[in-house]
Amino acid sequence: MSKTLRLILGDQLNSQHSWFSTSDDSVTYVLMEVRSETDYAVHHIQKVVGFFAAMRSFASELSKNHSVIYITLDANDNRQSFEENIIHLIEQHQFTHFEYQLPDEYRLDAILQQLCQKLSITTTVYDSEHFLSTRQELGDFFEGKKTFLMESFYRFMRKKHDVLMEGNQPLTGKWNYDEENRKKLPAQHKPIAPLVFETDVTDLVTMIQNANCKTIGTMNSKAFLWPINRGQSLELLDFFVTECLPFFGTFQDAMSPEEWSIYHSRVSFSMNVKLISPKEVIDRVIEEWQRRPEAIQYNQLEGFVRQIIGWREYMRGIYWSKMPEFAQLNYFNHQNKLPDWFWTGNTKMNCLKHSIKQSLEYAYAHHIQRLMITGNFALLAGIHPDEVDQWYLGIYIDAIEWVEITNTRGMSQFADGGIVGTKPYVSSASYIDKMSHYCGSCFYKKAIKTGEKACPFNSLYWNFYDKHQDKLSKNPRIGMMYNVWNKMKSEDKVALLEQADTYLKTINEL
Ligand SMILES: Cc1cc2nc3c(=O)[nH]c(=O)nc-3n(C[C@H](O)[C@H](O)[C@H](O)COP(=O)(O)OP(=O)(O)OC[C@H]3O[C@@H](n4cnc5c(N)ncnc54)[C@H](O)[C@@H]3O)c2cc1C
Ligand code: SF4
Repeated sequence: MSKTLRLILGDQLNSQHSWFSTSDDSVTYVLMEVRSETDYAVHHIQKVVGFFAAMRSFASELSKNHSVIYITLDANDNRQSFEENIIHLIEQHQFTHFEYQLPDEYRLDAILQQLCQKLSITTTVYDSEHFLSTRQELGDFFEGKKTFLMESFYRFMRKKHDVLMEGNQPLTGKWNYDEENRKKLPAQHKPIAPLVFETDVTDLVTMIQNANCKTIGTMNSKAFLWPINRGQSLELLDFFVTECLPFFGTFQDAMSPEEWSIYHSRVSFSMNVKLISPKEVIDRVIEEWQRRPEAIQYNQLEGFVRQIIGWREYMRGIYWSKMPEFAQLNYFNHQNKLPDWFWTGNTKMNCLKHSIKQSLEYAYAHHIQRLMITGNFALLAGIHPDEVDQWYLGIYIDAIEWVEITNTRGMSQFADGGIVGTKPYVSSASYIDKMSHYCGSCFYKKAIKTGEKACPFNSLYWNFYDKHQDKLSKNPRIGMMYNVWNKMKSEDKVALLEQADTYLKTINEL
């Protein structure tokens, strides 16, 4: 009798997958908690818990109609890697066929391909039936092109999936509402408190601690706040569309020391582990906008749709067209180490203190905090992209390499030399102050460039441009900054460079 073993990875919790539409006695599913996954980066404790709790909940639902093997981290016969466990299960249960879904990570793709070559039984690989584009689609779309402009891919996706279109033209006649979506939170404006869950995960936390997994961050194990199943994920999506979508676009770049998620959806974890799909997220936001057009202006909707079918699919396409070389890119040849306070938040720089402390507390920071606070500082301070990648890969609940590395090494660190972004995302204090309420209560002074209490972003910013003049001055989007720099008095330039040098030498004390 034929017996099939089907592997479900921790980020393949897609109950809508065609695998599950019929139950078949000859098919057994396996999910496993393994050290090869807990240990490839130092993860946030909430990230490890989030994955394992979601896997356990998924397996428990699945076992109602299917045969399921679940290997816990502390199981005696756990070989602690996918390959070893699969080989062992095939021998133990005499499976005659092995199947898996296309992994999202290059590393796991290679491991599973090699495993299949080693196995003496037949194997089949399936699509994960989650994304709106295939692995190759972006590569094909940009074939022969020098630049990979997200906007072009986004428009292609809108047309292809007929999202907010009228024939071949965008509904409303306009593709992009970015210029309406850059508002600071008004002083008296208090966003709604985020919806959080309160799942008791004490047993899981105890198991992870007993196994001596190295983790970062904190959590309340009696009240885990992230969604761990499809029901909670849909509840969070519902909360977002009813309460946050009306303000999403307007305040999507805003930052505040009092708020950790403002009007952001926080659906990245649910989507990245495939508890919910990008298609249903898009359908739900559009449906809500159609129901309440007076409450949800079009710029709020378009800003959100752009993130999902634009940025998210684009990053995945970049990943599959540029890996594995992408993981080695270091355009500026940056070599510095991350300051120690990236692991504690204990810095006098208020913007970094809040962004890092909330990341340690919630395993979350929203996009502009990741890009324009921590990422901006790491780039200006010349940190090696490997260090930056490891930090982002560990600390965020939604960090899976395909979407982490493209954002970090590409968009944030410009280590790809301009595949993802057309210019580096760097700024001095003025942008941070424009978009946040961090500067007012900071030890450093946003308007001071050199001398006592000068904001470090100010001198590091000019130091960065000065150092990389050969690589950046011909970039038409940056030329204006070099005009300003070149016109500056030489004593001012020297003072800025000396200030930056002092800060870089004492980076752990900032
Ligand atoms: C340095 C850096 C590292 C990042 N690392 C990750 C990561 O590891 N995992 C991850 O999912 N996202 C990452 N992002 C992208 C983005 O910051 C997060 O997707 C977002 O903050 C998640 O929160 P949210 O669900 O509240 O997003 P919202 O602001 O509500 O946006 C909605 C959704 O759009 C998608 N999205 C938005 N921006 C991007 C983007 N740039 N790339 C891909 N998808 C996007 C996400 O799925 C997100 O859930 C990173 C960004 C930067 C600058
Ligand atoms: S003054 Fe500088 S360090 Fe302080 S919060 Fe503003 S930008 Fe950040």
